[in-house]
Amino acid sequence: MKKAESRRKRAAKRGKNMRKLNLILLGAPGAGKGTQAELISERYGIPAISTGAIIREEIAAGSELGLTVKACMERGELAPDEVVIGIIKSRLARPDCERGFILDGFPRTVPQAEALDQMGVEITDVVSIEVDDEAIARRMSGRRVCKKCGATYHTVYNPSPKGETCVCGEPLTRRADDDPDVVKSRLAVYHEQTEPLKAFYKEKGLLKIIFGQEKLEDTTALMRGALESGDVTGKDR
Ligand code: AMP
Repeated sequence: MKKAESRRKRAAKRGKNMRKLNLILLGAPGAGKGTQAELISERYGIPAISTGAIIREEIAAGSELGLTVKACMERGELAPDEVVIGIIKSRLARPDCERGFILDGFPRTVPQAEALDQMGVEITDVVSIEVDDEAIARRMSGRRVCKKCGATYHTVYNPSPKGETCVCGEPLTRRADDDPDVVKSRLAVYHEQTEPLKAFYKEKGLLKIIFGQEKLEDTTALMRGALESGDVTGKDR
């Protein structure tokens, strides 16, 4: 059996012993949401859904949706609410979300969060990963992505074992919106439009905050603590 398949099966088995997780990850761009989403996805056997990744796929495919949002993305602005709400609505309707899901990068505005409520989507956990703006700027300049398989690395904090090449063999690249000027705009957009979601979910009693650490495994341990302090089965801690 292939390694990835057996890993998925093990995760799905472990996932059965865990409570349902319909998780939203909040945090500035570059705070580490994507990396944590992938790790939680593997551990719980549930999909990590990144609106940013879906949009990048649409842009790469040259679809109408991709063309609509390409300019927004390159300027570091948000895509229109109705576009991303549509993306999420159809993605959450897929059967792999029945046992839970992780939302990475959605919602990013209060109207998007309200749309989730209106769709009747039950959210069980919201974790915000806090990292200050200076550290974010440092991190984004070293971030590298694989256009083929979607893996994310950092030249210092989470390097690919193959240097500037992905484990899948594809050369790694820097995302256009990780350019330092674009990062500044993205941070401004985050503080103005996305940070108010912390109050939104605090009011619902769902918000947990963790502080992103320099070392990936330290942040992972904090995330695990935040999610599993509410583990109703008590198994697999
Ligand atoms: P990300 O990969 O999550 O940093 O997203 C990259 C870009 O995609 C963002 O800067 C936005 O232009 C767009 N995007 C992703 N998710 C959303 C969202 N929920 N609302 C609006 N725009 C989004």
